[in-house]
Amino acid sequence: MAETFANATQILEPFKGVKKVTIEEYFTSGHRTCQGCESALVMKLMVKAAGPRTIVLGSTGCMYVANTTMTKGKMKAEPINVIAFCGDGGGADMGLGAISATLTHKEYNSLILLYDNESYANTDIQLSGSTPYGANTTFSPPGSVKRLIHTRWKKNTAGMLAAGHTECRYVATVCASYAVEMMNKVRKALSIGGPTFIHSLDPCPKGWDYDPMLSHELGELAIETGIFPLYEVEDGIVRHYGKTKAIVEGRARKPVREYLLKQGRFAHFTEEDLGYFQKKVDEMWEKWEIPGVIPFRREVSVK
Ligand code: SF4
Ligand code: MG
Repeated sequence: MAETFANATQILEPFKGVKKVTIEEYFTSGHRTCQGCESALVMKLMVKAAGPRTIVLGSTGCMYVANTTMTKGKMKAEPINVIAFCGDGGGADMGLGAISATLTHKEYNSLILLYDNESYANTDIQLSGSTPYGANTTFSPPGSVKRLIHTRWKKNTAGMLAAGHTECRYVATVCASYAVEMMNKVRKALSIGGPTFIHSLDPCPKGWDYDPMLSHELGELAIETGIFPLYEVEDGIVRHYGKTKAIVEGRARKPVREYLLKQGRFAHFTEEDLGYFQKKVDEMWEKWEIPGVIPFRREVSVK
């Protein structure tokens, strides 16, 4: 029999500052991720933001393999949050069709959270459609004959999904270096109703080859260099937020080399490679129709 709550969401008000964040933890010790894993932090913050009446599903990937155990129980008849998480391999590559299908179903109250560590990390750091230009992975090792094996630009997953699913009510990009903002985007996505999508950039010490203590700093640098813009698209309206908003309003971006050269996966980069990477990021801000979001340009008519 249909219940009256069948299509209702829980209303999750934003946390007004870090002191208002609830203290309950649902992602507890005992997981098996690497030291300094930012994706584990995303899982912890995601379920903390969602609260106790939540079901989390996952496709295979680091967070599935390292975190899941099987439990049984009976559910109460009341609105619940449904979150499906996936990695960049599982979501931005293999599962893209399934995500696209979900985002066309207005009646699905659900959140898909893509944690992007920029490789197939769980199976030993293979190249994915989200791997940045030139990065060293097990499928793209630099060599003396060919320095750069991977020469494709990273897929613009959040922008593509927002642009292509006009009835999807909410798409956002997040980074756990800005934890309260990240949790509030999760709460908004779960409250708004309908299918929603969040793309999280997650520094990965193993795949990106850096000291685990740098995870937080690298997340900040990804935003401050303009490589990964923070924005939300709510009912078709784009809003940049946080340090990305400041960049849109004129704040200088940090040079990409400050981010790239802290990671062993770019250790083979020459000045030419750094210059190319900087040029591509500059284009995102200076030439895209909506900076950092939509990569179209208007045709300039020549009279
Ligand atoms: Fe986390 Fe990367 Fe280790 Fe996977 S490989 S558990 S994403 S640090
Ligand atoms: Mg991955």
